[in-house]
Amino acid sequence: MARSGVAMVAIGLLVVGCGAKPSAAPPPSTKAEAAPTSASPVAATQSNGYPVPKAKTGEGGKMVVTYEEATTPEAIAGRDLMEKTHFVDGIAQSVSDWYVLPYDIPVVGAQCGEANDYWNSGDKKLTLCYEDVDQSLKIFAKDPQPEETARRIGIGAFFHEVGHMAIDIYDLPVTGREEDVADQLAAYELLAPYADGHVDQDFVQAAKDTAREYSVLSKEGGPLEQEAFADVHTLDQARAYNFECWVYGSNPEAGADMVSSGQLPEGRADGCQAEWDQLVKGWTALLEPHMR
Ligand SMILES: [Zn+2]
Repeated sequence: MARSGVAMVAIGLLVVGCGAKPSAAPPPSTKAEAAPTSASPVAATQSNGYPVPKAKTGEGGKMVVTYEEATTPEAIAGRDLMEKTHFVDGIAQSVSDWYVLPYDIPVVGAQCGEANDYWNSGDKKLTLCYEDVDQSLKIFAKDPQPEETARRIGIGAFFHEVGHMAIDIYDLPVTGREEDVADQLAAYELLAPYADGHVDQDFVQAAKDTAREYSVLSKEGGPLEQEAFADVHTLDQARAYNFECWVYGSNPEAGADMVSSGQLPEGRADGCQAEWDQLVKGWTALLEPHMR
């Protein structure tokens, strides 16, 4: 996941370069608190010319995963992990099961030449770079199970891109910076309980691992240059604290050690439950018309 990626504008088409990550088997139930309400009336097309999704019709598209060629050692390692753990296929299936997608969304594993991921609003395509997964493998090479860590961080990155996708294809109103909002969607998918109340512990660890990776990345490369402060992405260390805050806020009892150990400063931790509640309220309302 590219923590300091730069949004690229190509021929008027916005490509969002990011950083967020996904897991394996599709969870059993949707996170949408599915009070079946009728969809609000919508225009036939969005300002970008794409059709407005039909809400809750049971029709529409799905995520379609393909893997492009890998030739560099970094890309080969990342691709191998994606194929071995099936996490991309698993999350793509989950998103297809949960979201009403107005058309098929290509999800492409690709050799990008950099550790990054993208949502391309021009061709409605989500790209997960092999190098991003490889970067996690390298950063956490000393973990007891580096491949599991990289898989989980990959899940978080996938959901971050799903955040960009949702904002785009559903034409969602957001305030605040889109990169922060996409991080919030990732946290929402990783940490919010399912309809039956259970929380996926593999996903909780994914949120923690995502925070760990941002923290490591923040310490790389020496002093920050002014450009980093102007970037569309929040600084890596702050993104790490955001994820820690949401992990803690989603279950303060389970996360008590995060505060007692000093990992999450008390001054921030005090407000994390309220911050988490706000995040859940916001994303639940935004997604509700678009969930199956
Ligand atoms: Zn992003």
